[in-house]
Amino acid sequence: MTTPITVAYGDGIGPEIMEATLHILREAGADIGIETIEVGERVYNMGATSGILPSAWETLKRNKVLLKAPITTPQGKGYKSLNVTMRKTLGLYANIRPTQSYHPFVKTAHPAMNMVIVRENEEDLYAGIEYHQSEDVYECIKLITRSGSERIMRYAFDYAVANGRKKITCMSKDNIMKMADGLFHRTFDEIGKEYPKLEKEHYIIDIGAARIAAKPEAFDIIVTENLYGDIISDIAAEVSGSVGLAGSSNVGEDFAMFEAIHGSAPDIAGKDMANPSGILQSAVMMLIHIGQPDIASTVHNAWLATIEDGIHTPDIYRQYVSREKVGTQAFAEAVVKRLGKKPAQLAAVEYKKAEKTAAPAKMAKAAVIRKELIGVDVYVYWTGDVKALGNKMKGLEGGGLTLENLANKGLKAWPDADTSGMHLTDQYRCRFRGKDSATHAEIVALLARAASLGIDVTKTDNLYTFDGAPGFTLGQGE
Ligand code: NAD
Repeated sequence: MTTPITVAYGDGIGPEIMEATLHILREAGADIGIETIEVGERVYNMGATSGILPSAWETLKRNKVLLKAPITTPQGKGYKSLNVTMRKTLGLYANIRPTQSYHPFVKTAHPAMNMVIVRENEEDLYAGIEYHQSEDVYECIKLITRSGSERIMRYAFDYAVANGRKKITCMSKDNIMKMADGLFHRTFDEIGKEYPKLEKEHYIIDIGAARIAAKPEAFDIIVTENLYGDIISDIAAEVSGSVGLAGSSNVGEDFAMFEAIHGSAPDIAGKDMANPSGILQSAVMMLIHIGQPDIASTVHNAWLATIEDGIHTPDIYRQYVSREKVGTQAFAEAVVKRLGKKPAQLAAVEYKKAEKTAAPAKMAKAAVIRKELIGVDVYVYWTGDVKALGNKMKGLEGGGLTLENLANKGLKAWPDADTSGMHLTDQYRCRFRGKDSATHAEIVALLARAASLGIDVTKTDNLYTFDGAPGFTLGQGE
């Protein structure tokens, strides 16, 4: 049965590499019915700040599968990244980015690399929650949830098992972000216990990224947060030979989107120079997803044979390694010519059944926890003397709430703090705590007193304990 799919041609090199890819799919006999939507630059320029029109959402939701070329997000205020919007709106929580080297046919310093990065796709700094709070302070919220972490971990572990992988590495920065990244790492450890046969390890992201650049063959599956995953997958693709080689899938419970990991490459757009391999690899992942693994194998093997024959686009062309430098469309023709062939030296693929695409929704229920309100952090715009602010805020005490300290950029600034070496900004965190607990009414009353004194409160955060453990960090020096 013909599977309907949605196709977006995108911007920059998008139309060229998409046309090349669809040509190969058609010639390979992919049984797909294509519906095209327009997204990206032209839509942004029509005034749609999301880069997509309502009619396109209808098509997407009906077909459930999208093959998408890269798009250009206009710089400047007001425009939201379409990619991020799509991932969140369609619940595409897992981003799968395989990277491998094709030694000796594509030049690389790392002949044996073959890794898959499983990137959490909806949370982290990409939740898109930002504030401009004072003249000096901008805030971007890093959101990590227990349920989101659990879901991506299950996906990554199940993917590793389904694809015969041996080792899984978690990368985070939990030495610094002990709560948010700590949760991510802890969830990895907890869920990992259910997969005793897989080797497990954790790297702090900075040394992890360095190791990917220097020794990528040491990794098998990597599971990580949204931003880290974005960065390390570009590193991985680049050290494998070219950012133009890697494809990816974005999957959720109901929808899936397939795209190259690179962008719209405006510098080479319209020049017939772009490598269509990234989007072609994504199309292979899509064919597996829609239950056409035979066609996926045919396309992938023909592509491998083309690479092996030294027919290369400029990004991977190297004298003495490559045989012929070709443009985008000629590369596609070369792949079409090899449909039905298998590579002689590179390992041929034989896809059988659909890769695991969405983790079962078997999320563990949270253990019963006792959540207690014990105070509030009140953020205040202030450019004057710290001691004067301390005294002013002390005057707001009342109910059971007393002022504990002031902090500036997370560093204790009052009382008993030497601020002479600190680069102070114009927003202070004033921490008020109840004796044992606090109430919302006490907090509201405190804010009313602040308002009556004309204090510019820029935001507040409640302080909770969970089963007695503080749900907030202490300021440095506190
Ligand atoms: P880019 O990936 O477009 O280009 C980086 C470099 O890699 C350029 O030198 C480019 O020529 C080269 N390159 C990329 N793809 C190639 C290919 N297939 N073949 C040969 N060379 C290739 O990154 P950028 O320049 O930072 O971003 C350009 C635009 O793309 C921006 O507007 C950005 O927002 C957008 N972007 C879109 C996506 C997406 O749609 N998924 C992803 C990343 C960036």
